[in-house]
Amino acid sequence: MEPISPKQTGMAAEGLLLGTVTDDLADLGKYGLKKVYQVLSESLNQLDAQVYAKTIEQAVITVGSKVIVFSHNQTGKAVAPMVAAGLKAGIVTGVIALPDTTKGFVVKKSVFSGKAFANVNISSDIKVISLNPNSYKVISGEGIAEVNQLNIPVEAGKVKVTGVNKVRGEVPLTEAEIVVSGGRGLKGPENWRILEELAHSLHAATACSRPVADSAWRPHHEHVGQTGIQIAPNLYIALGISGAIQHLAGVNRSKTIVVINKDPEAPFFKAADYGIVGDVFEIVPKLTEEIRKLRNS
Ligand SMILES: Cc1cc2nc3c(=O)[nH]c(=O)nc-3n(C[C@H](O)[C@H](O)[C@H](O)COP(=O)(O)OP(=O)(O)OC[C@H]3O[C@@H](n4cnc5c(N)ncnc54)[C@H](O)[C@@H]3O)c2cc1C
Repeated sequence: MEPISPKQTGMAAEGLLLGTVTDDLADLGKYGLKKVYQVLSESLNQLDAQVYAKTIEQAVITVGSKVIVFSHNQTGKAVAPMVAAGLKAGIVTGVIALPDTTKGFVVKKSVFSGKAFANVNISSDIKVISLNPNSYKVISGEGIAEVNQLNIPVEAGKVKVTGVNKVRGEVPLTEAEIVVSGGRGLKGPENWRILEELAHSLHAATACSRPVADSAWRPHHEHVGQTGIQIAPNLYIALGISGAIQHLAGVNRSKTIVVINKDPEAPFFKAADYGIVGDVFEIVPKLTEEIRKLRNS
C-alpha cells in the first residue's frame, strides 16, 4: 500500500511529539512529514492518557489539524477516544486501508473478529482514526521536516509510574516480520524451548494463545487475538493452536499462515496457507534443524 499522499487527501502530513526525545526530529521528513511540532513538559515524559489527550486536543486546536492519525497500539487505544470526545470528532479505530476521499472520508476496518469489512464514512469536521500496526510499509525517501516548539499549557499528571519492567532482547511482536506462536497443544511452559529454538532460527518474535497467557505459561504481552495484540506479520506459524475465532481475529491479516496441529479437523487449517497435520513435538525440532542447515549452507 502507498502512504497517504497529499495528492489523495489534499492535505500535508505533520507530526506531533510529546515530551523529550533525543532523536533528530527533522529526520522525520524522510518519511513524508513536512512539519513536526513538539510539546515539552515533564508531565509528558511518562504516559498519562488524560494528560496526553488534553495536550493533543490543545495542539490540534492551535495548529488547525483536521485529521488526527494514531497508531492502534496500547497508547493509541487509550488516548484516541479521549481526544475524539474532547474535540467532538468522529472516530474509527483499527483502520486497515487508506481513506477514500472521493466521496466524503471513508475508512476501512475489519469487523466481527475479522469475518467482514466495514467502510465507514466520518462526516465530522475533525476526524480521528487509529491505524492497525503493519497495515502500511514504512517508505523512506528524501526530506527534512521543519521542527516547531508548541507552547501550550500542559496539565500536571494524576498518574505516577512507580516501576518499569522492560522486555529486553526480543523481537517486538507488533513489528516482527515472522511470528512463531504456541497454544495449549504445547502442553506446558517447560516445552516452550522447541518453539523458542524455531523462532530463534527464523529471527522471529514469539506469541501465544490466550489460555496459554492466562495459565501463566507465557507473559501476557505475547497473547494475540481479539482480546490481545493484533498483528499482521509476513509469516505466522501456529503450533498446537486450535484456531478459535477469537484467536484468528488477532492474526488473520498475516500474509502467510502456517499451521501445525495433530487434529486434521482443527479450524485453523481453514485459515491456513500451509498446514501440517502432526505432532508439534516431532515436527518442530526437525523443522528447526532444517532451517539451521539452510541458513548455514
Ligand atoms: C470473549 C473471548 C475472547 C477471547 N480472546 C482470545 C484471544 O484474544 N486470543 C486467543 O487465543 N483466544 C481467545 N479466546 C479463547 C478462544 O476461544 C480459545 O479458547 C483459545 O484460543 C484456544 O487456545 P488454544 O488453541 O491454545 O487451545 P485449545 O483450544 O485447547 O487447542 C489446542 C490445540 O492443540 C492441538 N494439539 C494438542 N496436542 C498437540 C500436539 N502434540 N501437536 C500438535 N497439535 C496439538 C489440538 O488439536 C488443539 O487444536 C477468547 C475467548 C472468549 C470467549
